[in-house]
Amino acid sequence: MDAEIIKLDQEGKQNILNYHRYQKNENKSDSYRCVNRKCGDSFYHKTMKRNQIEHYHSQMSQCEVDCLVQLKSLMQLVSVDHDIRLEEAHNRHYQLLTEKYLHKEFAEFWKPFIGIKCSLRYHTNKTKPKNPKSVHDIEINNVYATINYEPFLQFDN
Ligand SMILES: [Zn+2]
Repeated sequence: MDAEIIKLDQEGKQNILNYHRYQKNENKSDSYRCVNRKCGDSFYHKTMKRNQIEHYHSQMSQCEVDCLVQLKSLMQLVSVDHDIRLEEAHNRHYQLLTEKYLHKEFAEFWKPFIGIKCSLRYHTNKTKPKNPKSVHDIEINNVYATINYEPFLQFDN
């Protein structure tokens, strides 16, 4: 097996091998199974050993793979950059796809912003700090807690 594994996320939960998408079996396990639950094809990451089961379904096209990679990288972007507008982030990845494909070629694999907005919002909110419920939840770091080496008044009663 000489194909390269394409990682779809930082945690290594999903990847693509030979135009098929795989899902990690358990957190600690090194084995990946085809995301198509009925399929049963799997492999071990370290040894790259596959079981004897062949995929019964068709593989992804290069275009579909690229769309998936862009989607995952979009999710990653909005979860680390909380300042970027979701629509702009989406558009940025859409643009990258248009450099390689015509719109009609990837339209079936790439969701318009409206169809993915909720999911993007979920990913960006997941990594945002929680809104404080009371004053005690607000942490003021050292930079703002002193002015001219004097601690500034943080509470006015
Ligand atoms: Zn499969």
